[in-house]
Amino acid sequence: MTTQTFPIALTIAGSDSGGGAGIQADLKTFSALSVYGASVITAITAQNTCEVRSIHSVPIEIIKDQIRCVLEDLSVNAIKVGMIGDEATITAVAQCLSEATHIPIVLDPVMVSKTGKMLLVSDATQALISQLIPKATLITPNLPEAAVLCREDEAQSLDAMYKTLDQLMNLGSKAVLLKGGHLASSDRCYDLLATPSCIHRFESTRIKTQNTHGTGCSMASAITANIAKGYSLEQAVEEAKNWLTQAIEHSDRLNVGRGFGPIHH
Ligand code: PLP
Repeated sequence: MTTQTFPIALTIAGSDSGGGAGIQADLKTFSALSVYGASVITAITAQNTCEVRSIHSVPIEIIKDQIRCVLEDLSVNAIKVGMIGDEATITAVAQCLSEATHIPIVLDPVMVSKTGKMLLVSDATQALISQLIPKATLITPNLPEAAVLCREDEAQSLDAMYKTLDQLMNLGSKAVLLKGGHLASSDRCYDLLATPSCIHRFESTRIKTQNTHGTGCSMASAITANIAKGYSLEQAVEEAKNWLTQAIEHSDRLNVGRGFGPIHH
């Protein structure tokens, strides 16, 4: 019997009962990109495409045990961190990740759902900045998240995005992907990637669809999958963006729920 070795990615994130975002989106993305996925659940959300109804935090010791169990046994090539809810969870995740400094980390600083529910308690922002962002290889904020992290108004233009990108680089991650999909004034979508050596601008046409639930999670997990495969950061982001664009383009083929439907993984 021949065996095949797959790259392995781990997601540390919240569960979405509706299957469109969080852990479920991450695992679907890993599979779509032929990467073996492991998962550590930080919170259980009761949600569908219309609302996040309630959130149950997983006990800290169980979160730590999950991370250590996975890392002790599986040769994880890259880690994605998504919803981490509150300061105690951030501290626990940061502590466990200090034991695995050789593994690249993609941190999606999840704060609010599209339906308006807080997924990170607001007083935990400082803990995210001081404890987790400096451990990250890449952070992937959208414009509202970037504004919170930089304590300034949300960027309203491409010029302002470049200034925000500069400030985000000062927070201590190795690289930053600033996602410009929220730029209301433009029918183009701009994403800016800053690495220690250069800045790349990715540009695409805005796709008109209501089925965008879980796009942020899926973008971060696609980048993580590509890093697990050994791609450079630039290549990982570029390929993830191409893949996500197709997934959003095909999302209207899915008829799931009555609200913000999921993308087609
Ligand atoms: N639920 C969970 C568990 C998430 O991690 C996220 C985003 O990261 C969301 C919901 C929000 O997804 P969206 O804003 O795409 O609806």
